Amino acid sequence: MGTSLRAAERSIIHVDADAFFASVEQRDNPEYRGKPVIVGHDPKGRGVVSTCSYEARAFGIRSAMPMSVAYRLCPHGIFIRPRMERYAEVSRAMFSIMERYSPIIEEVSIDEATWM
Ligand SMILES: [Mg+2]
Repeated sequence: MGTSLRAAERSIIHVDADAFFASVEQRDNPEYRGKPVIVGHDPKGRGVVSTCSYEARAFGIRSAMPMSVAYRLCPHGIFIRPRMERYAEVSRAMFSIMERYSPIIEEVSIDEATWM
């Protein structure tokens, strides 16, 4: 048994999908790619930003920021209400890929897990 295999037996893999909800929206809607995408409730009201794309971050938009502030920073942005069922579906697909490598999975959140 070589060194690399012994190392592999001890591996811990942590995956945290980046800008997950916004990335799913950009994948499902090619016209959103390369554009500021802001996912959250109630664009002009009291909701907060759930996730935003890197293009939106360039305008200073961040997670948990009031949507009204995000709208002021980037009025031409693409504001989308969360589609949680879709994100859960993509999450399951992502985790099922990892299950091929190890059944020992600790799910941290919808887009984040650790495998041992
Ligand atoms: Mg993440």
